[in-house]
Amino acid sequence: MSQGGVSSPSLSRSDQAQDEASQAKRPRALNADRVHDVSAPGQPLLLLPFVQPTPPLQPPTALSQTYYPTDAYQRKAIKGAYPKAKKVKRADTPLVLGTPGPLLTRPPNVRHQTHKTMERKLRAIRGPEVTYDPAAESRLADFIMNFEFVNTNPLRKGVVPVSEEFNAGCTCVGACNPEICLCLSKEEDESNTNIVPYRRAPDDPHMMVLKPEFLTRKAMIYECSDRCGCNAGCWNRVVQNGRTVRLEIFYTGDRGFGLRSPDRIRAGQFIDCYTGEVITTAAADLREAAHTAHGASYLFSLDFLNGQYEDYEEDSNDDDDDGDEATESGCKYVIDGRNFGGPTRFINHSCNPNCRMIPVSRNHADRDLYDLAFFALREIPPYTELTFDYNPGSEGGGGGIVKGAKIDPSAVQCLCGEANCRGQLWPNQRKKGVAVR
Ligand SMILES: [Zn+2]
Ligand SMILES: [Zn+2]
Ligand SMILES: [Zn+2]
Repeated sequence: MSQGGVSSPSLSRSDQAQDEASQAKRPRALNADRVHDVSAPGQPLLLLPFVQPTPPLQPPTALSQTYYPTDAYQRKAIKGAYPKAKKVKRADTPLVLGTPGPLLTRPPNVRHQTHKTMERKLRAIRGPEVTYDPAAESRLADFIMNFEFVNTNPLRKGVVPVSEEFNAGCTCVGACNPEICLCLSKEEDESNTNIVPYRRAPDDPHMMVLKPEFLTRKAMIYECSDRCGCNAGCWNRVVQNGRTVRLEIFYTGDRGFGLRSPDRIRAGQFIDCYTGEVITTAAADLREAAHTAHGASYLFSLDFLNGQYEDYEEDSNDDDDDGDEATESGCKYVIDGRNFGGPTRFINHSCNPNCRMIPVSRNHADRDLYDLAFFALREIPPYTELTFDYNPGSEGGGGGIVKGAKIDPSAVQCLCGEANCRGQLWPNQRKKGVAVR
């Protein structure tokens, strides 16, 4: 400008005015006097034409439009993400005072929703209906919100069943012959005879029940399978055909929920299986550590064939010890009925139980995966609470110990109320799958 050098040949008045304005705006230059001299009146002003400074040329970056131009689709998406706010003149909106809408008049019926969820989940249980005592309704609905009924045991990470192709069935035709059927296990004495678990109920030839002698022994039930020559109506298929009695969940008061049946249950009758997630022992250890502080354990070890029952072997005075079969590897899998399970997870402990849990297998090749089935130890009248012994192997199990003897501080008081009550139980301990009474 004034300090520039190039003189402008013609300078209009407006240019002059503009120049003066810009002079005014300009911070005072160091040589303000000289500026004043140059723009003295009567003298032509020395001005440079105003040139927009060109921005330095940016090299295109990875995010530049050169390489990634915004396409129509993106423009549309951006527009959709930031829609233009609709201008509303609030002052013009009339205030309507009247009856509020349905959301405000009727509070959302949470009870109704949880009730419907409970009904739906109970209906999804396979077999005869599972109901609940009306007095237990709200408690059960709350519980079931965080519980899933399962009809088969979901196998979790690390649990691998032995393939069916390794299973061997029997060669019987039609219905199995109890004397020669290859599915049945054999007595371990010299007789080597088949152990036949079932017989016909005395009052119902169509119903198979456990033989009374089987109810008191330590043995696994081997049922027939698809690989057998017999037909689906074979007498040695009971547990696999599922539950035949109705069940009712009720609230016991001091012992939480309980289970009973509106039907009469015969001695030796199959009731239902204990279902739950099948997890590895390592996973069970973690779950146990997390839950022990919060009460009952729903873990049952599938350790029947793993030599975990030495104490029972001694008790039964078996000459022919099956030590060669027992492995010291311990138990591989555990069933956890805490969050996924069947109605049987509600069966409470009793020191004088009316049910027993017995392992049932259909795949001889798989020593680690089998069912845990509840059978009635005696005739159970309708609406009698179903119970079993959580710790049949514990001191005095079944036989009863002197009340109050050797009280374990980690144990809690047993509330079964039976005459032979041991007085204590260990609800937060992992249960052995099955043991004989
Ligand atoms: Zn059969
Ligand atoms: Zn057979
Ligand atoms: Zn068979």
